[in-house]
Amino acid sequence: MLDGGAMFGVVPKSIWQKTNPADNNNMVKIAARCLLVEEGNRLVLIDTGMGDKQNEKFFGYYYRWGEDTLESSLKKYGFHPDDVTDVFLTHLHFDHCGGGVVRSGKNLLETTFKNAKYWSNKGHWGWATDPNKRESASFLEENISPILESGQLSYLEKDRGNYLTKTKLGFDVLFVDGHTEKQMIPVLNYKGQKIAFAADLVPTHGHVPLPYIPGYDIRPLVSLKEKELFLNFCHENNVFLFFEHDAFTELGSLQKTERGIRLNQKLFLRDL
Ligand SMILES: [Zn+2]
Repeated sequence: MLDGGAMFGVVPKSIWQKTNPADNNNMVKIAARCLLVEEGNRLVLIDTGMGDKQNEKFFGYYYRWGEDTLESSLKKYGFHPDDVTDVFLTHLHFDHCGGGVVRSGKNLLETTFKNAKYWSNKGHWGWATDPNKRESASFLEENISPILESGQLSYLEKDRGNYLTKTKLGFDVLFVDGHTEKQMIPVLNYKGQKIAFAADLVPTHGHVPLPYIPGYDIRPLVSLKEKELFLNFCHENNVFLFFEHDAFTELGSLQKTERGIRLNQKLFLRDL
């Protein structure tokens, strides 16, 4: 769970609590929903949640809930962590990459997915490994260094000439800088439909209206501009949004209203 005010920036609680109800402690329920993509011989995991290697004091701030783990969710679909060929990290904040590194029996830190390439980009990697004081509580060394030390790190390079960057991972990627430097947003095809893994650009269905920007964002005015372009792109191209952090809604479709682009339908992947 996260503080509702921090999740919604300048939007007052009287408004955001309609979509994201808070408890007595002002905390709202948050998911760390990953996405597994099968594409040819590749099995790509997009983001990994926060993992379970931190101490109780750390987890005490986040009120973890639910029974799902990466391993049990993979198993449900007949996969083992060793089957994953690529781990795509939208960015290196702990709630997106922490599950990619585990503490082994000998108290050593090692990658969870032994046979996978771990994808980031040069700009974001540099940003995360020399963090500013505002973001340093989100970029944890124990989540990041083991990836480099394992030799499994790979970089994607941004295509400066196009809105989306083509990759060999089975999806295109949008680079955005508002939430953090060079966050990567996958846009993929699924059953003839398009889905954008909206990560922290639009974390829950309550974040669709333009000014609903998390207080965590390092460049909120950049987020605003990027979000406007992104929502227009998704609306024009019938792209569904996949909400990584929404506790209850996996997918949303968009509609244009006189007040701007708004959520149309709430859906699940199984509805497509
Ligand atoms: Zn983040």
